[in-house]
Amino acid sequence: MESFKLYIDGRFDAGSATFDSINPASGEPWAQVAEARAQDVDRAVAAAHRAFQGAEWRDMTAGARGKLLLRLADLLEQHAPELARLETLDTGKIIRETQAQIAYVAEYYRYYAGLADKMEGSVLAIDKADMETWVRREPIGVVAAIVPWNSQLFLAAVKIGPAIAAGCTLVVKAAETAPAPLLAFARLIDEAGFPRGVCNVITGFAAECGAVLTAHPQVDHIAFTGGAETAKHIVRGSAENLASTSLELGGKSPFIVFDDADLTSAANAQVAAIFAASGQSCVAGSRLLVAESIKDTFLARLTEKVRSIRIGPPDRPDTQFGPLCTRQQQERIAAIVSRSLEQGAKLVIGHAAIDSPGFYYPPTIVDCSAQPDAECVKQELFGPVLSVLTFRDEAEAIQLANDSAYGLAAGIFTQNLTRAHRVTRRLRVGVVWLNTYRAVSPLAPFGGYGQSGFGREGGIDAALEYTTSKTVWLRTSDDPIDDPFVMR
Ligand code: NAD
Repeated sequence: MESFKLYIDGRFDAGSATFDSINPASGEPWAQVAEARAQDVDRAVAAAHRAFQGAEWRDMTAGARGKLLLRLADLLEQHAPELARLETLDTGKIIRETQAQIAYVAEYYRYYAGLADKMEGSVLAIDKADMETWVRREPIGVVAAIVPWNSQLFLAAVKIGPAIAAGCTLVVKAAETAPAPLLAFARLIDEAGFPRGVCNVITGFAAECGAVLTAHPQVDHIAFTGGAETAKHIVRGSAENLASTSLELGGKSPFIVFDDADLTSAANAQVAAIFAASGQSCVAGSRLLVAESIKDTFLARLTEKVRSIRIGPPDRPDTQFGPLCTRQQQERIAAIVSRSLEQGAKLVIGHAAIDSPGFYYPPTIVDCSAQPDAECVKQELFGPVLSVLTFRDEAEAIQLANDSAYGLAAGIFTQNLTRAHRVTRRLRVGVVWLNTYRAVSPLAPFGGYGQSGFGREGGIDAALEYTTSKTVWLRTSDDPIDDPFVMR
C-alpha cells in the first residue's frame, strides 16, 4: 500500500486517523490516507490565518508570488507522469486523459503567475477638488478550496492559481473518494518554497472535515466545486461566518444537432462530450437534442462509434473508456437507467453488466423522445449515459435546452451562422461550444447559471473573486477643516 499525508503549516502531517483509498479498476484498497478530523482542520485554517497575517507573506511582492506559481508549474511538469499514474490509480480515469490534463494544468499556474502583478487598483476622477481618492485591490483572506475527485489537480489549480496571485492563503480540501493526487501535489507546493501555512492540503469526510472547514470562523471565502446538494450545505455553513462563496456545480448540458450539421464531427464531438472520462465530467453533454428528421441517421452513427469504444483497464495507453470512480455511482446510475426504462424510455445501446472486477458501467444511450420527463433526462447522472430527445424547429430546440434546473454548458452543431448566434443568445448557460465541445483555456471564464452555481473560474475575473477593494480618501487641502457638520 502507498501512503499519503496531509500538508499543514509546511509539514507533512499524519492527521488524526487514516482511511483506505480504493482503486476503482479492481475494487481493492491501494493506498492509506491520513484523515483530517475537526482538530486537524482547525490547525490547517489557523496556519493559513497566521500565514495571511504574517509579515513574510504580506510583504512578498506580487511579482515574487508569481514566481512561486511559475516554479510550481515547472515542478508539476517534471512530476506529471507520476501524478497521472496516481490519478489513474485513485480515480479510474484513463491514463491518456490524466496525462493530457496535467500537461495543461501547468498552463493555468503560468497564466495566474503572469496575472499576479497586474491586478491593479484605480484612481477615481472624484467630484471634489480637495480630494485624492483611489481604490486598492486587496486579497480577500483565507480561502477554503473544496474540490471533487474528478479532475482534482485541474480544479485545485483554478483556485490556487488566482488565490495566490491575489495574495490569499488557502486550505485545499481533496475529496475523500480519491485524495492521493492532490496530497502528492502538496509535495510540490513544499518543494516550490511557499512560506509555511500559505497553501495547506487536507482531506477527510464531508460530515466532519468538510463541515468544520466550511463553517470555520477564520475562513473568508469558500471556492467550491462539486454537486448542487453539497453546495447548499456549504452555503448554509458559510452563513455562520458570512464568508463569500463561489460555486462550480453540476450540469445536464444539452448537445444540439440541427439538420444541417456536419454529422461526422457532431457524432465524434457527442461521443467525446458524454463518454470521455466515462461521463464523469461536469460539462458532460448528457442530453442530445437532435432534429427529428435526422434522428435515425445520427443515432446510427453514434451507436456504431459506441460499439468501437475500447473499454479496459485505465492504466493501459490504448484504453478509451475506464471504470466509474465508486461502486455507489455504478449502482446509482444503473438504477436510474432501469427506472427510466420502466418509465417508457427505450434503450439504444449499453446498460449491460461488464464482466470485470472494478466499477465498470458501459457507454449507454437511451431514447427518451417519447418520454421527455424520464428520470435520466432530468437528473445529473455524472456517468456515461446519453438521453436523446428530438425537436421539430429552432424554437423547440431552445425550449428543450433551457428546460433544466442546471445551466453549465451547451454544444450547438449547425452550419448556419445566423442560427448559431440566435440560439447562443437564448441559452441560459455559462459556456457555449459552437461546432466543437469541451474546449478549455486559462484565459476563458467558466461557470454556470441556476443550479450550476455562480462565480467564474478561469480568466482575469476569476482572480478578482479572490480580492476585495479598499477605497482610500486623502484630503489634499492644507486649509483647516472648519464646520464639522458639513458633509465632505
Ligand atoms: P461532491 O459534491 O459529493 O463532493 C465535492 C467535495 O465536497 C468533496 O471534497 C466532498 O468531501 C466535499 N463535501 C461534501 N459534503 C460536504 C459538506 N457538507 N461540507 C463541506 N464539504 C463537503 O461531488 P463529487 O461526487 O466529488 O463530484 C461530482 C460533482 O461535482 C458533480 O455534480 C459534478 O458535476 C461536479 N463538478 C463540477 C465542476 C464544475 O466546474 N462546474 C467540475 C467537476 C465536477
